[in-house]
Amino acid sequence: MYKSSKNSGGRIANAIIIPMVVVVIISVFGIFGLMHWSARLSDETAEQSQHKLIAGALQLTKNYLVKLQNGVVIWDEAYHRINQPDPDQSWIYDNIMHWLFQNHGFTKSVLINRDFEVASVYAQNHTSKWMDDQLFRDLSPSVAKVRARYINSFTRTPSGLYSFVPQSSDARRSIAETGVVALAGEPHLFSAAAVMPQIQSIAKERFPPSVLVSLVPLRGEKLKDISEMSRLDGFVLTNSQTGRDGVGRYQLRSPRNADIGMIAWQTTQPGTLMLQRINPFLALAAFMIAAVVILVTLFTRQMTRRLAHSEAKAVHAARHDALSGLPNRARFHALLTDTLEESIHRQSNTAVVYIDLDHFKDINDTLGHSAGDKVIVAVAQRLKRVIPESGIVARISGDEFAMVIKDCEDDVWLEYVLDQVQDEIARPIMIGRRELHASLSMGAAIAPRDGNDPDELLRKADIALYDAKANGRNRRSFFEANMEHHVQSKDRLSRELRLALKNDELDLAYQPQTDTSAERIVSVEALARWTKEDGTVVSPAQFIPVAEETGLINDLGLWVLNKACAQAHEWPGIVMSVNVSPNQFKHPRFVEKVMAILASNNLPPQRLEIEVTETVFAGRNDSVLKALRRLKNLGVKVALDDFGSGYSSLSYLRRFPFDTLKIDRDFVSDMNGNEEAEAILVSIIQLGKALGMTIVAEGIETLEQIRFLQAHDCHRMQGYFISKPLPEAALTKFLEDFNGDGGTSGFGADLSYQAQVAKG
Ligand code: C2E
Ligand code: CA
Ligand code: CA
Repeated sequence: MYKSSKNSGGRIANAIIIPMVVVVIISVFGIFGLMHWSARLSDETAEQSQHKLIAGALQLTKNYLVKLQNGVVIWDEAYHRINQPDPDQSWIYDNIMHWLFQNHGFTKSVLINRDFEVASVYAQNHTSKWMDDQLFRDLSPSVAKVRARYINSFTRTPSGLYSFVPQSSDARRSIAETGVVALAGEPHLFSAAAVMPQIQSIAKERFPPSVLVSLVPLRGEKLKDISEMSRLDGFVLTNSQTGRDGVGRYQLRSPRNADIGMIAWQTTQPGTLMLQRINPFLALAAFMIAAVVILVTLFTRQMTRRLAHSEAKAVHAARHDALSGLPNRARFHALLTDTLEESIHRQSNTAVVYIDLDHFKDINDTLGHSAGDKVIVAVAQRLKRVIPESGIVARISGDEFAMVIKDCEDDVWLEYVLDQVQDEIARPIMIGRRELHASLSMGAAIAPRDGNDPDELLRKADIALYDAKANGRNRRSFFEANMEHHVQSKDRLSRELRLALKNDELDLAYQPQTDTSAERIVSVEALARWTKEDGTVVSPAQFIPVAEETGLINDLGLWVLNKACAQAHEWPGIVMSVNVSPNQFKHPRFVEKVMAILASNNLPPQRLEIEVTETVFAGRNDSVLKALRRLKNLGVKVALDDFGSGYSSLSYLRRFPFDTLKIDRDFVSDMNGNEEAEAILVSIIQLGKALGMTIVAEGIETLEQIRFLQAHDCHRMQGYFISKPLPEAALTKFLEDFNGDGGTSGFGADLSYQAQVAKG
């Protein structure tokens, strides 16, 4: 039912959720990226510092080599023996090179003489082939540096000689040069040091030294030392250039800057380590964020859906009647407008039907509002059941419904649908254990025949409904032009009547009633008169029904009662008969108002007689009878007017103990010589008498009628033959003449008098 709004709910939800999810995803990825980036950064800094550690350890190792070598190169004997023209090779081997191997692990040594030539070559395994040109070239820069430093360390004496004074061991060491070279592809550490005397020497000229280069393989012992010193694990010598994460590489270079392999080690990666440690937490956090996002998403979706749902409900409530669930008046109007537009477009006929439940007020009054509600709901359901699929049913107000029926190409179809409606409603409605029989009146207008404007069609359907009701309910009318005219003139009449009441254009005429003797006036009937400003006289038969329909009857009726009672006070001993409409009894305080009028006019209740017609019994309304009973108990007389004009009149006599029975005019006028009519009249008189009622015959127009009624002991007589209804002053005079002690009175003595009055 609220489908369209569900989509709008989804749209609202998406408008909130999508940006939120995007922001969350971006933030989560951002945080992850930042963590990885900083981990990488810290890994890199760690590797750099490990690099420095290795470089330091390597340098320390090299320095140590120099220290070890110093024992044999700063030695007077070695200096002299080596720098002889033809040095003793075996002495050099044994005391320097082999000694260096045995004591300090230098596996190879080579001596470069002052002329920068290879003078002695030693290898632990007695091969001398290791020293080739390539290696010589590699070592040359270091040897050259040592030679240069050595030469520079001579100081010139004032006498122009050169003195060589090795002072501190540091200074001596600084002359040495260390490095890494490859021997048959194997990196070797080397230390190159000048062979120098222990004591000061003086020379005429500066001269280069012999340089001892001692080598030790990096692999093995030395590498282990470096590893330990740098406190790093997993040192490997490699030539492979391919690197990978978690493996640090320290490039080894010869003095000539040639690439001679590298030390690889397992780097410690604090960033990666940290990442690995916090990864589970990050994953958990991500999971939780995802969970929160999902929950929030679901929640938001549900909330917006609920919001949209309640909004849709509010819209529905605004458009629909809460009790029946049918569209309300506003919604019906909108739907009708749409339907009419469409039907104009399709050139098809559309019927608008107004429906009114008959006597719904009575159901409400007698069974209560909850029963009334149940009836409304039942009727709504039944209407929905029988209306064609394309039709519309709405509840317009209290007991009013409306329908739209499409494609009524001929009235036969519409008649058929309305038949269905009436049949469906005719089935009894169960309220608790009580069976209710409802009926409805319908008025239809058809587009385009009766117009295309929704308001115009509704108005015309309403007029047709009005016509249906006026013609006796439980029926239907299709709009016709003359109905409108009828309604319009009624409308005008009711407006004028309202003004007339205000402007005092109404008056009362009084028609006298004699007793059986026809010689005394015992009562008068007050009859409303309306003379318009322009002098035209409107019959009460015309304006009383209008007053009843418009509700004006309450005010008008009270005015009549008041006026009649005031007048009765002027005519002592005369009973005042006043006509009262059934509608007046529906006023909740009618009885109180009558009592107040009697009191204010100082009139005993016994002097007032109210005339009601049998319509008071219509609608199964007990409240009217209750009011009648109260009035009767207070002493007011109650007459049943126009008896015999309707149906089932006899049964009414049992339902209320009327004081007076007024036989309908038609019985009296039918009488003249008609035996059957006379028989009926007589039996009514007898029946009334048997029930203890006062019998009144009205509409008496001939002397024969009077004689006949006198013969049958009719209690009171009224009619033109006695007198037409007279204005107040005329009646006062009439009463004086008729009831007065002096002169002629009644008809018995002088009929010419009565004839004169009747004509006048
Ligand atoms: P109703 O109550 O039956 O009143 C009698 C009607 O018969 C009166 O018509 C009266 O003028 C007429 N009538 C009296 N004698 C004769 C006769 O010999 N021959 C003929 N042909 N007619 C006679 P009126 O005054 O035009 O009243 C018409 C109806 O209007 C009344 O019928 C009554 O139902 C209603 N009415 C009049 N005044 C009031 C009123 O104040 N309140 C209410 N509720 N209804 C009123
Ligand atoms: Ca009457
Ligand atoms: Ca009457």
